[in-house]
Amino acid sequence: MDKYFEYEKAYKSRPHVVLIGAGASVAAIPRGDKNGRKSSVMDGFIEKLGMSEVIAKLNLVTNSNNLEDIYSELADREEYSDVRDVLDNRIREYFDEFEIPNEPTIYDFLLLSLREKDLVATFNWDPLLLQAYQRVSRITNKLPNLAFLHGNVLIGYCLRHQFSGNIDNVCPECGEYFSPSRLLYPVTKKNYNSDPFTVNNWKALKKYLSEAYLVTIFGYSAPKTDVEAIEILMNAWGGSSHRNMEDFEFIDIKSEDELIDIWEDFVHTHHYTYTNDFFKSSMARFPRRTTEELFDRTQNCIWTSPDTPFFPSMTFSDIESIVTVLVDEEIKNIDGFITLKKIDE
Ligand SMILES: [Zn+2]
Repeated sequence: MDKYFEYEKAYKSRPHVVLIGAGASVAAIPRGDKNGRKSSVMDGFIEKLGMSEVIAKLNLVTNSNNLEDIYSELADREEYSDVRDVLDNRIREYFDEFEIPNEPTIYDFLLLSLREKDLVATFNWDPLLLQAYQRVSRITNKLPNLAFLHGNVLIGYCLRHQFSGNIDNVCPECGEYFSPSRLLYPVTKKNYNSDPFTVNNWKALKKYLSEAYLVTIFGYSAPKTDVEAIEILMNAWGGSSHRNMEDFEFIDIKSEDELIDIWEDFVHTHHYTYTNDFFKSSMARFPRRTTEELFDRTQNCIWTSPDTPFFPSMTFSDIESIVTVLVDEEIKNIDGFITLKKIDE
């Protein structure tokens, strides 16, 4: 077997890991959810939950109105455990109500643009990504894996049997209803994510990151309080020279300068691209072919051009016709990888 062939196949089969934060949910429902509810990033969120007054009465060191900063301090102080419980409940109620709009959202596009070898890891509690997953699985079941790093309002689990799934379902082993997953907050403490369900999700992230060829960070700004997330990313992307083929891609409405400030330690050792628009990302331009495209462009020196891009005005039936063709091509391809067409062919 041709050595280069094996080399190419190995690269193209590597995972694309997409990390999503609050900014991605904001982008997914720019005009609000099905009922016009808007998703919000963490700044100003305390006020939205109607918690401002309660919090103002506490004797906190932080002046921030950012949920992560406030929670991080509440978590450290036993006398505030009641406030923490109230906050937990408010957050659960708040996110429980979100319903994905009828038309395709960025989450639908995102899930269909990736394959079974890929991973979408989310820090978000809202149910939008899972709601999208449920409906796009009617188009194909060849979808990426999911990891919930901070729990999710739609996810439940049976700790005894290590099963998890939609909160309304029962454990296939014992038949008991799943218990709600804990909603976790990024805090400066280590091992805050140590319940068995969450541990498995973080393990999956570590494993995928260690093999990833391409990493997209979408609307996630790595709060300084999230010591665990930052450490995992650091380790996975340790800057060692044998990993210099990988690319970082950022999708964020923050300016490039702001992003580089946040991700300084990562980007100075790695290639990266930046866009403020999901539809200019690798996923929308080269759905289901993101690692192929990266390899063909950088190592096969092919001037790649999108053949079947996703664009915002597509209906579900438009998307389905593209995805069906791509999935067929994946099933039929005997090489185990796909080489993109040269632009002049
Ligand atoms: Zn069980």
